Amino acid sequence: MRADLIIVGAGMVGSALALALKDSGLSILLLDGGPMNVQPFVGGAFEPRVSALSAASQRILQRLDVWPGIAQRRCSPYTQMQVWDGSGTGQVHFSAASVHAEVLGHIVENRVVQEALLERLLDSDLGLLANARLQQLRRSGDDWLLTLEDGRELHTPLLVAADGAHSAVRRLAGCATREWDYLHHAIVTSVRCSESHQGTAWQRFTDDGPLAFLPLSGVPGEHWCSIVWSCTPPEAERLMALNDAQFCQALGRAFEWRLGEVLHSDRRQCIPLRQRHAKRYVGKGLALIGDAAHSIHPLAGQGVNLGFLDAAALAQVLLHALGRGENLAELPVLTRYERRRMPHNLAMMAAMEGFERLFQADPLPLRWLRNAGLKWVEDLPQAKALLVRQALGLSGDLPDLARI
Ligand SMILES: Cc1cc2nc3c(=O)[nH]c(=O)nc-3n(C[C@H](O)[C@H](O)[C@H](O)COP(=O)(O)OP(=O)(O)OC[C@H]3O[C@@H](n4cnc5c(N)ncnc54)[C@H](O)[C@@H]3O)c2cc1C
Repeated sequence: MRADLIIVGAGMVGSALALALKDSGLSILLLDGGPMNVQPFVGGAFEPRVSALSAASQRILQRLDVWPGIAQRRCSPYTQMQVWDGSGTGQVHFSAASVHAEVLGHIVENRVVQEALLERLLDSDLGLLANARLQQLRRSGDDWLLTLEDGRELHTPLLVAADGAHSAVRRLAGCATREWDYLHHAIVTSVRCSESHQGTAWQRFTDDGPLAFLPLSGVPGEHWCSIVWSCTPPEAERLMALNDAQFCQALGRAFEWRLGEVLHSDRRQCIPLRQRHAKRYVGKGLALIGDAAHSIHPLAGQGVNLGFLDAAALAQVLLHALGRGENLAELPVLTRYERRRMPHNLAMMAAMEGFERLFQADPLPLRWLRNAGLKWVEDLPQAKALLVRQALGLSGDLPDLARI
């Protein structure tokens, strides 16, 4: 089988790219190692993996006609953000109203985003291959030859890696990465609290790492949050070994009981955190997007937001080149995508790295610095507005799909 473009990985980012190119006239194949079917949404328990989608991601998903499918299922808008240092007195409060926005973002279960994307994919003429795991990759003239686990062979001149942090395409194509361990694991789950989350995303920086309570709505009369608790591996191991009542108690204490008692915790998942960044996002006939190109600490909830911007920027570059009759697989064409996205992604990764180090640092001067910094931001409306615009994802060089 041959296609003009093959996208490996139908996660949130690969699916968004396929939809952004569905009217390009290119023959496109989107394949994934897992199934691709949409289950009727029945509500029920929240999925532990959620994303804080920025306004820029919302715009992209609206332009791709995916947002209605998200809104019909379940998503939780938040209008405030409260960040504080657990070992000091510094704190900052951000609000959507301060920049005349309706919301700061939406907390959405990954499964909800994925299903809404898939619904649109199934309505399109795009070629979809489910349960198709890439196993081998090599060049065959100007084409890539992909061999799947079941022995099927696929050819394409242009290959996009959207197969996540452990990208097989990146490894098989020999793309170098810079990687470093955060020495952090993230425990994620959904919890029910005794008090309302007030439509606020809460983040406390503890000595061990950041702890986020993200608001979930949709269960009348109950107060649910999705938590991301980053801590050292031994502490994560200890917390994972606690029974539910002990875990709720430890969580409530670590969160300073800001939302009252933690009454219930769903099943916990523990995810090791590692930062990776591909040294190049492109090669001849090859582009990396989303977590295949970069994976960052979840403390600012930016991973998939950066991925959607990658997908939108790559689609724009390809459509523009197509309009000019250029060969899409040529390196100068694909480098335009890299030039647009790499500086932005690197800046975000550096900021997260700095934050993470500053808040993990114990020496007194650094504690003073971060408390003073938080107070400084709190007292300076211009600095706060700038940070809110960053969180909305509406600053910098935006691809067309993220513009109004
Ligand atoms: C604890 C935690 C919290 C987070 N919170 C946020 C947040 O609030 N906001 C945010 O923006 N980001 C957040 N992120 C990051 C976000 O989850 C990722 O950036 C996002 O899921 C990456 O999407 P992707 O489509 O690039 O990759 P993935 O979601 O990993 O999708 C990759 C796809 O490729 C397929 N695949 C893999 N290998 C193969 C193969 N060999 N052959 C075929 N198919 C293959 C997989 O089946 C999968 O469908 C968080 C991450 C963590 C760990």
